[in-house]
Amino acid sequence: MQHKLLINGELVAGEGEKQPVYNPSTGEVILEIAEASPAQVDAAVLAADRAFAQWGQTTPKNRAECLLKLAAAIETHAEDFARLESLNCGKPLHCVLNDEIPAIVDVFRFFAGASRCLSGLAAGEYLEGHTSMIRRDPVGVVASIAPWNYPLMMAAWKLAPALAAGNCVVIKPSEITPLTALKLAELATGIFPPGVLNVLFGRGKTVGDPLTGHEKVRMVSLTGSIATGEHIIGHTASTIKRMHMELGGKAPVIVFDDADIDAVVDGVRTFGFYNAGQDCTAACRIYAQRGIHDRLVEKLGAAVASLKMGDPQDPSTELGPLSSQAHLDRVSAAVEKAKALGHIKVVTGGSKVEAPGYRYQPTVLAGALQEDEIVQREVFGPVVSVTVFDDEAQALAWANDSQYGLASSVWTRDVGRAHRLSARLQYGCTWVNTHFMLVSEMPHGGQKQSGFGKDMSLYGLEDYTVVRHVMVKHE
Ligand code: NAD
Repeated sequence: MQHKLLINGELVAGEGEKQPVYNPSTGEVILEIAEASPAQVDAAVLAADRAFAQWGQTTPKNRAECLLKLAAAIETHAEDFARLESLNCGKPLHCVLNDEIPAIVDVFRFFAGASRCLSGLAAGEYLEGHTSMIRRDPVGVVASIAPWNYPLMMAAWKLAPALAAGNCVVIKPSEITPLTALKLAELATGIFPPGVLNVLFGRGKTVGDPLTGHEKVRMVSLTGSIATGEHIIGHTASTIKRMHMELGGKAPVIVFDDADIDAVVDGVRTFGFYNAGQDCTAACRIYAQRGIHDRLVEKLGAAVASLKMGDPQDPSTELGPLSSQAHLDRVSAAVEKAKALGHIKVVTGGSKVEAPGYRYQPTVLAGALQEDEIVQREVFGPVVSVTVFDDEAQALAWANDSQYGLASSVWTRDVGRAHRLSARLQYGCTWVNTHFMLVSEMPHGGQKQSGFGKDMSLYGLEDYTVVRHVMVKHE
């Protein structure tokens, strides 16, 4: 198992403190990896800065060729990546292999093509005798900080647009789930010039702080919690860096009386519990109109109770463990707090599973009120709440009454209502009669405390560039 860091094109052992990496299915330590030392963080940033002098001047065609090679290498090693991700995250192997890896490969291929299509305003004479043109140039050294829920996919979402735009990157995967990023580092050595891509390992305090605070880092791209986002913005304030923040979410799922109830049940069963609900867009905050509410709660309870929990290697397993003991305790505490309110009914689940690993029962809670913490705060586990509403205005007001603004969905057969709500929901994405579907061509990103900046799409590529004006006097 590759456990070396990638600094300036070399795979090197970390020189910092050793950290255990766990298998969340069993709670056992897989291996210990040494973090990057402060000197290694510095070396990685300086290597990226040196490499930028050339990589930033390469043609989009040259950069696209490297990204396409990386995509092909990931495809060739798909089974190794899937096994590592499953081992380190507890995800069902078939989900990683069939859903995640193809999407990851596609992201690299999309940005390989997109790098050749960056455009600005047409050049023109806006002042007599002068020609103006817009350039979109890379930012410089980007520090990318990835979370533990989709380690390789989040790395891909960050690396592909940043590298395609001509930046050099130092990426730090989560210390909880570093294995696939370190495997990616191994493949990258034969593809990118030294220093273009650097991969570190370590915790936020020991490696994240010196990395994001480094004066040569011109942009920080984080996918993580709101608390980490707040910290990084404060920590880097004195060096004024560009920021790209994909933070938490608590997606409202608004179900009207006229919705196709079976489609809703199937949608929430799948998209509320995929990756054990550890997803920033998870369909977790359900608002059901009074006429459909009781039937929906009953059907949803039965459907969610049928989710199969088990060994991630077993192709029939639908639900894996949570990422860590600490996270299991957080999810459990959130549900216990909700139960203690007295008015919330546990339709199914509601407890830790007495088995090895960090497992929590798939859970449906009914009778939740708008002001309840279980409705207001991200749980990031296999837990959905259901709240009853009476009319469209109330559903819209409650859906928008949230610190989050990442993803939302509306379930109705009324096209006018679907459009009306889509226009008024304060979320980066609104799905109608579906949830969770993402494609490389379309932007993903939040508003409010869910952050700013877009992943994927041409908007994502633009985020990793600076807009410049060049004016030529030609009289
Ligand atoms: P986290 O904030 O705890 O950690 C994310 C990353 O930040 C990790 O690599 C961690 O080591 C790093 N980090 C922590 N402190 C740091 C510091 N001081 N300096 C630099 N880096 C630091 O988040 P998590 O628990 O790994 O992930 C779950 C969170 O991520 C949830 O809130 C979830 O909603 C969010 N998320 C958002 C999206 C999105 O697209 N908006 C996608 C996935 C996850």
